[in-house]
Amino acid sequence: MTGLDSLYSLRSRFIVIGLTGRLGSGCTTVAKLLTMKRFEDCNFPEPVLGTSPTNEDRKYRIAFDFLRQNWKPYTLIRASDVITAFLLREDIRDFQAFLEIKYPTNSKQIIDLIEKIKHEFCSLSEDVKSMFKKIPAAGELVTLDDEIADQLFFRSGKIEQFSQRLKEEFQTLTITNESSPYQWFGDNLRKTGNPLQDQSFEAANCYIIAQIIRQLIKINRNQSNKEARIVVDSIRNSMESRFFKERYSAFYQFAVNTEETCRLARLNKHYNTSELKALDQEYTKDLATEERFYKQDIQTCIQVSDIYLHNPDEPKSEGDKRKTIKKDILRYLALILQPGIITPTPSERCMQIAYTAKYNSGCISRQVGAVVTDSSFSLKSIGWNNTAEGQTPCLLRSVDHLVSNSDPEAYSEYEKGEDYKRLIQKTHSYTDTEKDALKGRNISFCFKDGQNCIDNNKNQVHTRSLHAEENAMLQIAKYGGEGLKNGFLFTTASPCELCSKKAYQLGISRIFFIDPYPGISDKQILRSGEPKRQPQTQLFVGAVGRAYHHLFEPFMAYKDELKTLLKFNYKKSYSESLSETEKAKYVSDLEKQKRFIEEELFKFGPKPDTYKL
Ligand SMILES: [Zn+2]
Ligand SMILES: [Zn+2]
Repeated sequence: MTGLDSLYSLRSRFIVIGLTGRLGSGCTTVAKLLTMKRFEDCNFPEPVLGTSPTNEDRKYRIAFDFLRQNWKPYTLIRASDVITAFLLREDIRDFQAFLEIKYPTNSKQIIDLIEKIKHEFCSLSEDVKSMFKKIPAAGELVTLDDEIADQLFFRSGKIEQFSQRLKEEFQTLTITNESSPYQWFGDNLRKTGNPLQDQSFEAANCYIIAQIIRQLIKINRNQSNKEARIVVDSIRNSMESRFFKERYSAFYQFAVNTEETCRLARLNKHYNTSELKALDQEYTKDLATEERFYKQDIQTCIQVSDIYLHNPDEPKSEGDKRKTIKKDILRYLALILQPGIITPTPSERCMQIAYTAKYNSGCISRQVGAVVTDSSFSLKSIGWNNTAEGQTPCLLRSVDHLVSNSDPEAYSEYEKGEDYKRLIQKTHSYTDTEKDALKGRNISFCFKDGQNCIDNNKNQVHTRSLHAEENAMLQIAKYGGEGLKNGFLFTTASPCELCSKKAYQLGISRIFFIDPYPGISDKQILRSGEPKRQPQTQLFVGAVGRAYHHLFEPFMAYKDELKTLLKFNYKKSYSESLSETEKAKYVSDLEKQKRFIEEELFKFGPKPDTYKL
């Protein structure tokens, strides 16, 4: 092992990839790819350097050649298997009772289902109960017996098989207008610690699935000389992704996105329309505050991801239907092992700037960043959602100061009026216990929420902030600069109808966005009018935030790294590479130089011999 090997083993010996994305977007496809035994089995598209290759083609070739030499399969841990394990711990009669309550119209099917799985359930249940036997210490969560867990999850694959079987059986049930069984089990587990119980939330449970996954990672690592590459399919609650981010510096969350039409087409093969509507629970926009801790929330999971992948359906005639996503996965797998092996794409570089900008936003509901570039990705301006310059953003204002009028410039004449002030004071009043729970936090308020309450409306017009995209475009109007016609707009969210209109009017030619399932702004605003003037929208692919630095910051200058490996010496190699005549010429050149220097030295010294070279 060379010094470099041990340096890079800091990255290569332990990797955890978490996948997230909506049902039908392709997480399972990605998971499968990562678990392939050999590089060749993955069928990554061959790099082609045509007659006029681009730098992106060259980057792909470099990443391809590197990964081929460094392939090791990932071990798959399924969150749904963890949920199944918790199910198996329960009595089958409770399981049946739960299904009967949730599917009141399916009682006949449920009896059949239970009859079919009964034998398997009960025999596996015994093993699972012994796996859970360890009694957790006070205040600790449940833990597994390492050996039995290793057997059931990794070696025999028994839990996985039963999981698959259960999921198939569930497909025979008609989903009523709510979640699917596994969505329920997962939510309940995070809420109460029991997949069949949905009463009373206990905060300690929200990491229960993540904790078990963490233990499985540990078991896997101990089995393989502390070396492990793990893929978790999938992360469906943003607190879980926070859990992994805080624990592992080697954790990367991949968001797998696809066009809505494409996603629905894939799901249509398995579900009918009302079932699809039920499954959309995973993407609810408005979670009650406490629900954030245990409900599935794919939208937030996508927002907090490190690496964004695009998984379109490609025409069969092109051969592999998964070319696009495979090429991108290959890049990131190579970069995880060898940070800086290739540089970011132009859109990655621009999105990272927008991503960095978003944290300047003082909006207390959402932070968004945007940049505008010309059509060569040269940066023209930056923006984030915030109040107009000179006004105070919501984050820096407080209910107390509004009421006591101790910072008058921070609040509008309207807000300082009795009606509005009274509403805000009443809404944000607190008991002594709540005051303690605040632990010194500043109490800001959202003007829009208050005003919409007064109007009994949901009007976006009342936001105090300008939108990030709007702000970026306005910087040019404010300070001057180059026109934005034919330029590109990048947003860390997706452009709303108002910003889409402005981009259209400015002649922006392309909009890069992260939030994969926007409202109707694309269809309504952007897909209207003369086709050649319509801005194109492009789902962003790339690494952002922390991952950008993690993946693109080299461990050392690449030249030094190669020098360490090849031990090259230019002078030595040069003289060795010369032919006899070249050598003779080289020697006579050197002698000429020598004579010249000696003559120069003689002019200064009284004793010529001492200067003899
Ligand atoms: Zn606000
Ligand atoms: Zn907007």
